[in-house]
Amino acid sequence: MEQVKNFIGGQLTDSQSSRISSIFNPATGQVVRQVALSTTHETQHAIESAHLAFTEWSKTSPLKRARIMFKFKSLLEENCDRLARLISEEHGKIYSDAVGELTRGLEVVEFACGIPHLQKGEHSANVGTGVDSHSLMQPLGVCAGITPFNFPAMVPMWMFPVALATGNTFVLKPSEKDPSLSIELAKLLQQAGVPDGVFNVIQGDKEAVDVLLTDPRIQAVSFVGSTPIAEYVYTTASAHGKRCQALGGAKNHSVLMPDADIDMAANAIMGAAFGAAGERCMALSVVLAVGDEIADKLVEKLRHQIGHMSVGTGITEGKENDMGPVITEQHKAKICDYIRSGVEQGAKLLVDGRGYQVAGYENGYFVGPTLFDYVTPDMKIYKEEIFGPVLAIVRVPDYDTALNLVNYHEYGNGAAIFTRDGETARQFSEDVQAGMVGVNIPIPVPMAFHSFGGWKRSIFGPLNVHGNDGVRFYTRMKTVTSRWPASVRLEHHDSSFVMPTME
Ligand code: NAD
Repeated sequence: MEQVKNFIGGQLTDSQSSRISSIFNPATGQVVRQVALSTTHETQHAIESAHLAFTEWSKTSPLKRARIMFKFKSLLEENCDRLARLISEEHGKIYSDAVGELTRGLEVVEFACGIPHLQKGEHSANVGTGVDSHSLMQPLGVCAGITPFNFPAMVPMWMFPVALATGNTFVLKPSEKDPSLSIELAKLLQQAGVPDGVFNVIQGDKEAVDVLLTDPRIQAVSFVGSTPIAEYVYTTASAHGKRCQALGGAKNHSVLMPDADIDMAANAIMGAAFGAAGERCMALSVVLAVGDEIADKLVEKLRHQIGHMSVGTGITEGKENDMGPVITEQHKAKICDYIRSGVEQGAKLLVDGRGYQVAGYENGYFVGPTLFDYVTPDMKIYKEEIFGPVLAIVRVPDYDTALNLVNYHEYGNGAAIFTRDGETARQFSEDVQAGMVGVNIPIPVPMAFHSFGGWKRSIFGPLNVHGNDGVRFYTRMKTVTSRWPASVRLEHHDSSFVMPTME
């Protein structure tokens, strides 16, 4: 059986670990590859290789680093079809959604192509007589990225293009559930001209992660995954003196106002709730319908549309499915447990996705689209992240109740409002406690030149990923203040013993 390798110092290497994890095709339930969970020693080896490569890479001109990013971008485009198929095989998402995730990752590469401009710092002439100041945005050293299963291409590309372009070296620890993409990205980076050791991949689990969080050669850690692990990563990395950004889970709410364009809203809600089988951190899992009238209209439209959805394999010969399977058998069981608890706690189950069968793929991890009405805030299906194709409708009497619910929820990744009223939308954008807000847009994922990140327990650390925050995260500022002696023209000044102020 093929085993996914590590990529250390420019070489594909086999792990010697005896701990092996299986990689499944979620549509068939069959093992397609295996991956060894790397040892502490192997992880240290990857860090050492990045450490050794740092000095030369950090001194390479930003212009040259940008040219490598341009080349990497073209290689990603040339290989898009092959990569999308691989994502779909190990993750289960439909082909065009895999292309979409590659595109969003590619946009961060495009952003990183502009690094000579982004990293050029600031300059002030004559801050004092004959004194100039300029700032340098210098790379940190070895940076680590630890990534989740749900975006095996995009989430690593939220991190390493900016980290590498700013002059850092990198060790990526991808999810052990769909790790093959990481190696394909490493090979393309090498082909684009990234020197050996600058980008490394270590396959593994907690053992590898713990080395990355504690090794003194690692300067910064970027993490994306579930909230309990994000919190652990943030506290451990910070306790070891590292810069850390750790993005966690979500429960994204959408407020449906009585004046909303109901057709537009229903279409948007369908895609946002059930796209990628709900396995997106920006998936929409709660609709707060303001008033029974709009709630009834929404329910009618969603039931109709759900009835026409096709659930099946991510890759098809003919017409594409709308939704694929979820990632593992265990995750499928967890989602079904949530559905059971919703019923037990009194929510009204309008569409039940349990027991969904796809002909010819009886062992696949399929859960059909599931719709609950009359969900209340005390229920488990309201409070917790399900990360599956389950949508909860909560009926609320007015806008203020809706806003308070969004704001009291422990997560604050994304939030959206559907309305025709500009003033309500403006007020919502101002008052809502979430990092990314959509107005008649259900999944408000910022473009690469803005930054991505939530609020509350959806993120730990002050800086978001990509955009200007990404550049700030992967660089540290040094400010140089200089005066040049004008030996022949001016007399020398005497020493000064007071706090320097610019005269
Ligand atoms: P996860 O937290 O289980 O795993 C994420 C990474 O952490 C993986 O690389 C995994 O190997 C590692 N890991 C797992 N357990 C660990 C432990 N005990 N100690 C150290 N490392 C550990 O997350 P997942 O199931 O792969 O991904 C789904 C989660 O990611 C969801 O909660 C989703 O909301 C979140 N997510 C968030 C964002 C965001 O931008 N906020 C984006 C994508 C996914």
